[in-house]
Amino acid sequence: MTDRNPLIAGNWKMNLTLLESASLVKSIRDHIQDLDGVDVLVAPPFTSLATVKGIIGNAKILLAAQNMHWEQSGAYTGEISSVMLLEAGCTHVILGHSERRMHYQETDGMIDMKANAAVQSGLTPIICIGETLQDREADQTYEVVRKQLEGSLETFMQNKTLPSSTILAYEPVWAIGTGRTATPAQAQEVHHFVREWIAETFSRETADLLRILYGGSVKPDNVKDLMSMPDIDGALVGGASLKAESFIPLIRFREQ
Ligand code: PEP
Repeated sequence: MTDRNPLIAGNWKMNLTLLESASLVKSIRDHIQDLDGVDVLVAPPFTSLATVKGIIGNAKILLAAQNMHWEQSGAYTGEISSVMLLEAGCTHVILGHSERRMHYQETDGMIDMKANAAVQSGLTPIICIGETLQDREADQTYEVVRKQLEGSLETFMQNKTLPSSTILAYEPVWAIGTGRTATPAQAQEVHHFVREWIAETFSRETADLLRILYGGSVKPDNVKDLMSMPDIDGALVGGASLKAESFIPLIRFREQ
């Protein structure tokens, strides 16, 4: 099996002012200087991106946006394009977060267009998938996750190739912001299913290289057990990424 460097990613959502963003990223920067073998990423609100990038400088913190449009420019009031995100210093973009699927009716088809636009512009997509509590209770987890993969990666499937730098994030909706985490075994089962689907659909090599993050109430006290699972390659973190006191222990989980 290929070694995959774990990635701990903080999704700040619609939180933190410019000053608060600057202060948090300074703190993270000061705590990663001797960090080895773990990649760190932050996804601030759009208005903080350029400032956060300025503070990151040459430090090893990756910068992501939380969403983007699939067109490069045009009459799309309130939207932002990959060109603009690149200009602000982003290397990554989160796509298809369950909050966007739920509150803004984002479909797999839209995520497919966004993911392709991202890759074509040179941004690495972090594509989120995950079942609701209702899906899980109806024993539909694998069916739902497979459908989301097929829909969000449709164009890559047609082209028979998926960049192995693509990141997937398995985020069971019932675990996001609820304090209810999937057990390491529950998460591992789905991650394994996703990796095997990637191997069958694209190639074993892509499946072995591609990182699959877990997201859903990841905290300093559960991170180590989750990260010990063979198919869990990191975490996409909401609430616990907003404060240095909880985010630093996450990125330093190996020291626990
Ligand atoms: C998220 O929004 O991606 C997330 C996982 O949030 P939280 O860590 O707060 O559950």
